Amino acid sequence: MSIYDERPWLAHYDPGVPADLDPGFTDVLQMFADSVARAPHAEVLRYFDGRISAAELDRLADAFACALLDNGIRAGDRVGLYLQNVPQFVIAILGTWKAGCVAVAINPMNKHRELAGLLHDSGASALVCLETLYRDVAAEVLPETDVRWTVTTSELDHQSRDDPRAFGAVRRIPGLPTADMARLLEEYRGRRPPPVRFAPDDVAVLTYTSGTTGPPKGAMNTHRNVVVNAHVYRDWIGLDGGDVILGVAPLFHITGLIGHIGLSLLLPAPLVLTHRFHPGLTAETVREHGVTFTVGAITVFIALLNDPEVRAQDLAGLRKVYSGGAPIPPSTADAFEQHFGAYIHNTYGLTETSSPATDVPLRARAPVDPASGALSVGVPVCSTVMRVVDERGADLPAGRIGEIVVQGPQVVPGYWNKPEETAAALPGGALRTGDVGYMDESGWFYLVDRKKDQINAGGYKVWPREVEDVLYEHPAVREAAVVGVADDYRGETVQAFVSLRPGRTASAEELIEFCRGRMAAYKYPRLVEIRDELPKTLTGKLLRRALRGT
Ligand code: AMP
Repeated sequence: MSIYDERPWLAHYDPGVPADLDPGFTDVLQMFADSVARAPHAEVLRYFDGRISAAELDRLADAFACALLDNGIRAGDRVGLYLQNVPQFVIAILGTWKAGCVAVAINPMNKHRELAGLLHDSGASALVCLETLYRDVAAEVLPETDVRWTVTTSELDHQSRDDPRAFGAVRRIPGLPTADMARLLEEYRGRRPPPVRFAPDDVAVLTYTSGTTGPPKGAMNTHRNVVVNAHVYRDWIGLDGGDVILGVAPLFHITGLIGHIGLSLLLPAPLVLTHRFHPGLTAETVREHGVTFTVGAITVFIALLNDPEVRAQDLAGLRKVYSGGAPIPPSTADAFEQHFGAYIHNTYGLTETSSPATDVPLRARAPVDPASGALSVGVPVCSTVMRVVDERGADLPAGRIGEIVVQGPQVVPGYWNKPEETAAALPGGALRTGDVGYMDESGWFYLVDRKKDQINAGGYKVWPREVEDVLYEHPAVREAAVVGVADDYRGETVQAFVSLRPGRTASAEELIEFCRGRMAAYKYPRLVEIRDELPKTLTGKLLRRALRGT
């Protein structure tokens, strides 16, 4: 049965959306090779004044793959990418695939313990990282990992090729082999690695998520997952080589990986990167580069809307705006449309669904739930089945609230080396999302709650246990419970409730500072409340839910 059989009204909005998805490519490399053959001169990357064509990117990735293979990295090895949104990320991930390896996408905000955790869990044997991150974080962590070879790169390599060391010399750790990416790309220029062909179910990238059940786990996004959802973006939004993509989502997150990199490789079309988000710079980039499409967290659009200088600018070229990962306040969507003329399309997905599971077709508008006032997250994309189930896993009819379950070609087969967590989250290959919602009579989905304890800070997900574990390392902390509380800008922010050991003192500010130095910036608690006692169940378990209500 096709999506139009179930929802014939969809065809009215998007006659171009295929009923079922068969991208015709087994892996990302084949998909990109097709683009290079069709449009070798098409731009695929822009970074400040730098421009890289499809054919040039292909050559750079070939060179990088040869460098990996020459330095003892073998097919199947994991290669960590610990980088911001710079062109080197794209060169490195393609090069990793061309060497037959699996990429590990690492949040550049991660601090020592977080980086060490991911490198251990993935067993990465190579790491590509910014020089600044090498100096400040990685150098200390690497000697205790299996990483055998590290490639460092400066943020400016592609802006000022003559001065790749613009950030100054980096102190290298003796005995830890490191190389400079700009120099490698020069040295291996013109070399081609042996051809690689992945099977659709081979893992392309490990993306770390707390998922529904606890500490960070590597979701195994396969080549099929990536190829399929790159096509979903293209076909549901109606994008082609004439579009210009703004890269505001972090490339290490699956939305940036597929909605930015995958899409630009598929179309091919320019992906415009700015290494960090700043409303003024982003608006200038949209105008200067003629950006037509972007997908990002709602906080990006709120920041644009609230910046007086940006408000004064004409961003009319930006017509196709998609937001995912966190709820969109309908009033924000309306204000954005009134001011900039662009309707923000809601899309729902998880790391485990390789970005979109639902979408709002380009010419459709998401309805608003009359009871809660929440905006619908859209309808399932093609070849995807979404169900709402009760506690026992039985299907619920339209209108009834339950847990959302997703099945489709974009759903990951599981978590890296975590059979138990895989079995719990993906029984029979269907993903139990931990999100609570319902479907209306027409097939639109709505989210109403979360079963999981995860905190959603503007699209960045925080697992309370991780923050609590750090708080417990403070000598004055007796008990700690971390919850999400409402925040105007981020939707939710992190709050900690703490009780202290007898005879010990610590201020809220001190505890905030303690956490800030030990975890990624989006995770540390912005608010700490110190109490004599924390609420507990009869069995002594801390009651996060009771604290959330206060
Ligand atoms: P992540 O794995 O970081 O992509 O986070 C996935 C989670 O983000 C989902 O399980 C939802 O709780 C939340 N989420 C994703 N998209 C939306 C959306 N459009 N509206 C509200 N919450 C969302």
